[in-house]
Amino acid sequence: MIIGSHVGFGKTQLLGSVQEALSYGANTFMFYTGAPQNTLRKDIDEELTKKAQELMKENNVDIKNVICHAPYIINLANNLDSSKWDFSINFLKEELNRCAKLGISYMVLHPGSAVSLPKDIAIKNIIDALNIILKTPSSCKILLETMAGKGSELGVNLEELKTIIDNVHYDIGVCLDTCHLNDSGIDLNKFDEYLECFDQMIGLDKINCIHINDSKNPIASHKDRHENIGYGTIGFSTLLKIIYHEKLKDVPKILETPYVGQNMMDKERIYPPYKFEITMIKNQQFDEKLIENINNYYK
Ligand code: FE
Ligand code: FE
Ligand code: ZN
Repeated sequence: MIIGSHVGFGKTQLLGSVQEALSYGANTFMFYTGAPQNTLRKDIDEELTKKAQELMKENNVDIKNVICHAPYIINLANNLDSSKWDFSINFLKEELNRCAKLGISYMVLHPGSAVSLPKDIAIKNIIDALNIILKTPSSCKILLETMAGKGSELGVNLEELKTIIDNVHYDIGVCLDTCHLNDSGIDLNKFDEYLECFDQMIGLDKINCIHINDSKNPIASHKDRHENIGYGTIGFSTLLKIIYHEKLKDVPKILETPYVGQNMMDKERIYPPYKFEITMIKNQQFDEKLIENINNYYK
């Protein structure tokens, strides 16, 4: 099983990300090359990158399974302000370059939000943008994330994803997100039916990453609020079936579940759940004391 979580990318860049992932007992991880909500980025440090790659080798973390996530303020779907659209395109190009320098193979991207544009035009903008970006070949592959359908988000159903993939002239893939699938209206109790449809329309080989999250909200709520594994509306056994699915066994699984004690009034109690969630997943046994154990471990 290839499993990890979202980790930081701070002063020590990829080296710190690897160290954090190892502290969770993970054999892969996902990071943003800076703050996800802005586009301020530092140059990639070659020394730190070399050390990070060595540490990965020593610990059997295959860099091919490591994922980068593009900042979510990039929006390729809306070009009403052409300078903003150009900025998104250029920024994504730079992100791909940074990933190439780091040796990273996959970049997860939110397809975009239409905002005030009609859906079909917004989807065409995404296609045009990706064709412009990928004209310059990159060793890092873009993965479109399946979205919850919050606001005017695109990439919410297989039809939208298929239209984008079919019309981009370059190889792109998909990142499933279990919380987003649930919130978009997919019944994950019938995950095999979804996979069957996915295979017929797009092809299972296009699934290169899966975000494993429980959801705070019911199916088809279009909300996108992640919950800790087994504590949400999807539930432990359903998530476990997806994680251990035979057809997805070589696909990296990434946890993006919320920190425990996440409360603005109580900043001291913000602890990463990943070490404990990964253990619980490996044990294949729901831990009713998960939150308690995380609090006890970090406090
Ligand atoms: Fe995402
Ligand atoms: Fe996600
Ligand atoms: Zn989400």
